[in-house]
Amino acid sequence: MNQDILIIIYLVSSVLFIFGIKLLSKVKTARMGNFISSIGMLIAIIATLFDKNIVNFELILIGVIIGSLIGAIFALKVEMTAMPQMVALFNGFGGGASLLVGLGDYLKEAPSELYIALTIFLAILIGGVTFTGSIVAFGKLQGIITEKAVVYPFQHPINLFLLLITIVLGVFMMMDQKLVMEIFSNFGAESFVGNTIVYLIAILSFVIGILVVIPIGGADMPVVISLLNSYSGLAAAMTGFVLGNAVLVITGSLVGASGIILTNIMCKGMNRSLLNVMLGGFGATTASDGQGQAKEIVIKEVGSEEVAMMLDGASNVIIVPGYGMAVAQAQHVVRELMDELEKRGVNVRFAIHPVAGRMPGHMNVLLAEANVPYDKLYEMDQINEDFSNCDVALVIGANDVTNPAARNNPASPIYGMPILNVDKAKTAIVIKRSLKPGYAGIDNELYGYPNCLMYFGDAKNAISKLIQEIKEL
Ligand code: NDP
Repeated sequence: MNQDILIIIYLVSSVLFIFGIKLLSKVKTARMGNFISSIGMLIAIIATLFDKNIVNFELILIGVIIGSLIGAIFALKVEMTAMPQMVALFNGFGGGASLLVGLGDYLKEAPSELYIALTIFLAILIGGVTFTGSIVAFGKLQGIITEKAVVYPFQHPINLFLLLITIVLGVFMMMDQKLVMEIFSNFGAESFVGNTIVYLIAILSFVIGILVVIPIGGADMPVVISLLNSYSGLAAAMTGFVLGNAVLVITGSLVGASGIILTNIMCKGMNRSLLNVMLGGFGATTASDGQGQAKEIVIKEVGSEEVAMMLDGASNVIIVPGYGMAVAQAQHVVRELMDELEKRGVNVRFAIHPVAGRMPGHMNVLLAEANVPYDKLYEMDQINEDFSNCDVALVIGANDVTNPAARNNPASPIYGMPILNVDKAKTAIVIKRSLKPGYAGIDNELYGYPNCLMYFGDAKNAISKLIQEIKEL
């Protein structure tokens, strides 16, 4: 294919990616944004395959059909609650692919230019770390590996030492191989030269990926997934340099940059520093640290009738959705409840915590699916001050994001995480099935507060009953 035409096609697909990302920033246009970006990707893939004469038209078509089928099956089958694991797994595949490209390119022919050798090294290192790190993240979220932080002595020095060895090997990999041979033969270690060094770099990057993610536990996992997402983008960008493919450099950089921006937003949401994430091992406190401090709490239980009366008499209600709403798939009845209350003149708003649920934007997606108007959803900073003026804060399957221990108890694992000020409302009503803890595995002191009422039940059933009661009032 003519290289000028190829560059223009790549430019078009890059513009489609950027335009698509722009559209993703609004719920209304997000679906279109996704579609436009995927068209950009399709164009780039087809152009590359033709350019490299890799396959013929029939094979491309078969590939497109098989890929679309797999994508469609995943999209329809994977539960919303299992989405973070899927994202983690896909990140991992991206990293693994970058590692294979870097490795393959080096094994085909050792690079003569320094910058190519450097990008191959980075593609292998970042790709390898992303691959195993993402697999560990997947295992933790899927419950295959313990969700708790696995800590061991000298964790940071060991990680740093392994990284240093990898970098030294990388320097050997980039040097003139004759010189390297001379150096190694002085130690009788000639067999280490050449491909062996590259294999060692790959193995070490796998080990580093595991060791960096394994000490991260519970509530901090979303930050790690977002960070690994960013890494997978960086690895892809490096691969773009290795292959001399501009569109891969652009897409990789877009993923890398957006992943870092999201990581930063989430770090702020959980009050963690980015450096802390990079070094791994944060959130290493275990659930028992928090529970050791927990006092016996006395709760006040209410039934659907009382809750219905309170909501009916309220002027301002703030709904706080959490992971339990996703599990119960209660978003549609939540919307019905909103309609019913609004009919009675109640002002209903939704408070969305940045890490409510199990993935960024989880609550927004579910509520949008149930056609809750977007202007009813308020981010934490926009609405937190308003809790003290609201009559009822209705917590639906949220737990950690409402736990005042994050403010009051320095021994709690979530101490310092910004929370929704549900406890400041005149009355807080919590809908959940039991007193069991949420993701961070710690008791919620809110449930013992004098202004807190517990309405036990599965979110969907409990709200359906509530709507019935309200209609009968
Ligand atoms: P939590 O995990 O803290 O609590 C969810 C609560 O929902 C549980 O206590 C559970 O109580 C209840 N629940 C479960 N099923 C149902 C049901 N069918 N009906 C009613 N209630 C139900 O959720 P939050 O949203 O408050 O907080 C999110 C947590 O997840 C944070 O710790 C966050 O750091 C972490 N996280 C966030 C990610 C993100 O990107 N958003 C990703 C990964 C983790 P019970 O069993 O008693 O019903």
